[in-house]
Amino acid sequence: MIYMLIFKKVEQLKSYFAKERKKGKTIGFSPTMGALHQGHVSLVKRSLEETDLSVCSIFVNPTQFDDKKDLTKYPKTTGQDLDLLHSIGTDVVFLPTVDEIYPVGQNEPHGFNFGEMAKHMEGAHRDGHFDGMAQVVKRLLEIVEPDFIYMGQKDYQQQALVKVMLEQMDTNCQLVRCPIIREVDGLAMSSRNVRLNKEDRITAGSISATLRNAKEEAKSLPLKTVKANALKGLDIPGFSVDYFEIIDAFSLQPIAEFEQAESVVACTTVRIGGIRLLDNMILK
Ligand code: AMP
Repeated sequence: MIYMLIFKKVEQLKSYFAKERKKGKTIGFSPTMGALHQGHVSLVKRSLEETDLSVCSIFVNPTQFDDKKDLTKYPKTTGQDLDLLHSIGTDVVFLPTVDEIYPVGQNEPHGFNFGEMAKHMEGAHRDGHFDGMAQVVKRLLEIVEPDFIYMGQKDYQQQALVKVMLEQMDTNCQLVRCPIIREVDGLAMSSRNVRLNKEDRITAGSISATLRNAKEEAKSLPLKTVKANALKGLDIPGFSVDYFEIIDAFSLQPIAEFEQAESVVACTTVRIGGIRLLDNMILK
């Protein structure tokens, strides 16, 4: 029998980890909002391979949702999530309530300086999203005090901002960047994919196909043309493109020339039937 501990209370989780830390155990942390899929599983599995104790949190953070409809419609499958986490051998699950995470209210400023990095893409399209993300990640890091935090490249801008947070916090916690896990047709796995109707689910495959095409074209065409072709590729009935940006992988600023940055990423967000789907691809 493999045991998986489930904590709902901050103090209980903290005192358990304090004891384990004294025994010299390392802690790997995968924060999630639940409705788990193989993308989430890949983070926890990596943590299980690399650390002594793997903890996964499931918390749908209200402060990072600018669209309250998106929050109420966010899929909740806690029973299934726990079964899945148990089946892969997860050591600890943290399932806090909103009051447990925000005992003094939801308006405390996080205090991080992201400079220009939070300005574009998700920062420009989701008002207050990264403030909410920084708030919850800071709180979770203070509670769990992990040695490693496992995050997916799927949320490229988020992952980069968490790296900045770790640099600005008094912590030795290291970020482990995990690759995007995709469906067979290339669609990036997402908790929101289950909300797509049959037709939209099929056309959603065009997002990753467009990114793959951009990667090919970037080798020989000016980025302006690559971006224009990508927008043409995403000009599909029912699609509404929030953005398609080609950015410097480190500064997250849009670039005009492929040679302008050491590493380049194409990031996009498309709304299909009101469902926001994010994806990105490293071009070099
Ligand atoms: P979420 O539950 O959407 O907040 O995601 C929790 C974590 O899982 C984040 O670090 C995401 O980047 C990561 N994640 C979500 N989808 C994928 C995926 N398809 N592949 C890899 N990581 C993912």
